[in-house]
Amino acid sequence: MSDNSDNQDALAELNQQIAVCPDCELSETRTRTVPGEGNPDTDILFIGEAPGYYEDQQGRPFVGPAGQFLEQLLGSIGLRRIDVYICNVIKCRPPQNQDPLPHQIKACDKWLQAQMRIIAPKMVVTLGRYSLAKFMPGQSISRIHGQARRISSLLVVPMYHPAAALHQGGLRKTIEEDFRKLPAFLKEVVKEKEPDSTEEIQQMRLFQL
Ligand code: URA
Repeated sequence: MSDNSDNQDALAELNQQIAVCPDCELSETRTRTVPGEGNPDTDILFIGEAPGYYEDQQGRPFVGPAGQFLEQLLGSIGLRRIDVYICNVIKCRPPQNQDPLPHQIKACDKWLQAQMRIIAPKMVVTLGRYSLAKFMPGQSISRIHGQARRISSLLVVPMYHPAAALHQGGLRKTIEEDFRKLPAFLKEVVKEKEPDSTEEIQQMRLFQL
């Protein structure tokens, strides 16, 4: 794995490219791109869906109500935003917060792939169904939330989206319980050997990350 400043520089360069991305129509309506932020050398990557109003205004992921809840969830297991990396499947806000469309997800895929290559996390936490579909297409979040699955050298943990949990009272407890499982999963992955870069590259290709 590269040292912190290497990853930081690589992400800064990537963010500059994302900032001028013209590859789908969301480039015409966005205020700012929302590439992601956090610790460039983290073991855990959280992947949400798409920026909303506040994210689009600030150019930062998860800064609205769902973000506040995500921070609470992180805090409940002793983590801060700056300890992990947080990004989204797509980097620009869909107007009126519509669901991301397949061609938008496809156009944005290269940026997520690049983030995965640079950060090389040991664990990915998917937040919501679009992020889940990147790793486990066709799976239903209601069936597999909170269950870690190994995908090559990566541990993937599907979670409900924090916004869904905010809107549907019953899901709040579920996501809180699922978050409480993360420290044990993390402990498991950090004690394993550092994945070598060849393996990581193969994994990216296999899962089109
Ligand atoms: N919801 C997301 O999926 N991502 C954000 O950045 C904010 C809300």
